[in-house]
Amino acid sequence: MTQSKMWVGAAAVGAAATAALAGLYGDTPDARHAWSVHDMNRPRPPVIQAMPNRPPSDAVVLFDGSSLDAWVSGKDEPCKWKIVEGGAMEVVPKTGEIRTKESFGDCQLHIEFATPAKVEGSSQGRGNSGVFLMGMHEVQVLDCFENDTYPDGQCASVYGENPPLVNACRRPGEWQTYDIIFHQPLWEGETLKRPGSVTVLHNGVLVQDHWEFEGLSTHCQRRPLKPYANKLPLRLQDHGNPMRFRNIWIREIPSRYANTTHGGPAANEADVTALRQKTAARLFESANPGDANKVAALHRLLEVIAYDKADTYLKPTVEVAEAYLKELGGLDAQKLQDRKGDIIGLRNACNVLTRNKVVAEDFVLKAGLQRLINEHGLEKKR
Ligand code: MG
Repeated sequence: MTQSKMWVGAAAVGAAATAALAGLYGDTPDARHAWSVHDMNRPRPPVIQAMPNRPPSDAVVLFDGSSLDAWVSGKDEPCKWKIVEGGAMEVVPKTGEIRTKESFGDCQLHIEFATPAKVEGSSQGRGNSGVFLMGMHEVQVLDCFENDTYPDGQCASVYGENPPLVNACRRPGEWQTYDIIFHQPLWEGETLKRPGSVTVLHNGVLVQDHWEFEGLSTHCQRRPLKPYANKLPLRLQDHGNPMRFRNIWIREIPSRYANTTHGGPAANEADVTALRQKTAARLFESANPGDANKVAALHRLLEVIAYDKADTYLKPTVEVAEAYLKELGGLDAQKLQDRKGDIIGLRNACNVLTRNKVVAEDFVLKAGLQRLINEHGLEKKR
């Protein structure tokens, strides 16, 4: 079997070989990106189950109709709201807000609600409750089906700050959904670094599009943001109406600014460099410059220097490249034709590095392979 066929065969065997090539497939890491484009070395996201009409498998279920155990009233007293027919919980007016026993920070929240079928009151007095994220930021819950009120306090508003983009309210008594993506403000001491944000889908319709908080929710006043704990309970408001809720689940999510190693608003060059160096060291361990299969060794080594072109990695790469070019130099025209798959494949990998300025155009391996390709017409169609 020729080396070319061996390589093709090995590549077909499994993902490991694919991974060996993948770092040289898309643009290489740079100051803001620790991974290549389409990088197979990049860690995979966790696998979860997302089945129809069920909470995602990684969600914390806060209410599924069976118990109010996840909630408390007052000073850690048992929840004073009640479970009613149809797997819902209902506000018992004047018993006060309820809050989760557990605390949460940045999150995705799903919650369903129904305003009373029997319409009573008007404006803010009709079917009022509220979802208080971390107990601080209210996404208003209100019966706004043909019920006028101040827009920054209507259903799906960020209360006192921002009206929803549209009024997507269903009729009184009908079940409605909120899907909320919340990021808390970020502080360094007393200095606000990021204001935090909320995105809300009401009945599947985008109504708050990454609204950045101006303050803490309150009535009538602009109350400025101020630091609070990283995790706090979710609160539901008792505004004196027998509102119902069901199917409440929450997923904690990373801060929008947690990713410091791959693009995005918080990319940090020092963190990127550290991860690139770590990845290079890990890949170099399996690179084996002494591999009898110099093609496989070179693919791995070229990938290593895409992450980190320190002399520790560049030197053995150049040594293996020179040995490989010497080996090719001793072959006749037919044997070179037999190996053209290897030769062109490695030259292509070098092209990714030169395109990204990891190495110069005169890099020994690229220059040597290109010369052979030109001299022997290896890219000519036969
Ligand atoms: Mg309210």
